[in-house]
Amino acid sequence: MAKLSCANIRGGGHMMVSDVWKEYESNEISHSVAHHLTAIHELMDDLGYARVSDVARALEITRGSASLTLKALKARGLVVEDHNKFLKLSEDGRRIVDSILAKRAVVRKFLNEVLKLDEHQAEVDACKVEHLLSAQTGGQLLHFVHFLLSDDPTARQFLAEFWSKLDQDEEWQWPVQDVDQLFNLESR
Ligand SMILES: [Zn+2]
Repeated sequence: MAKLSCANIRGGGHMMVSDVWKEYESNEISHSVAHHLTAIHELMDDLGYARVSDVARALEITRGSASLTLKALKARGLVVEDHNKFLKLSEDGRRIVDSILAKRAVVRKFLNEVLKLDEHQAEVDACKVEHLLSAQTGGQLLHFVHFLLSDDPTARQFLAEFWSKLDQDEEWQWPVQDVDQLFNLESR
């Protein structure tokens, strides 16, 4: 059987071969969409309302550009606009925002508090993947991080040891040419 790779991921046993990277282009939430939706959410929290101009200002883009994206989001049923031109998230839109924010938070925590990347780098990388990770991956990562940062003595010991190695490990340098081989060598 061919090795599973980015090029040949299948959606499931009964489904046609689907190229995941192409699918993202067509029907998944783009990064721009993710930020338009979260901007509406944050404006509602901060101001109690969100208009096209507020979204544009929050995202530092032109009103025309925000308007175009928001129109498409209304057509997709993710955003609704009342007769006074006030925007809000539909139930589906809200669900997507909750999922994006949860993934952003858990990835940020993992990168910053477990892998010890600085706050800025953790925030930037969390922002980049927030809309791409599946809910399953976000959920499992949360379990993992939650356990690692708990009071469990095994977790505490593990992290202490890992962090001490993180400071001194100079055996290999990124980027590693063959990651699979690195693991194979070490498991011998
Ligand atoms: Zn982002």
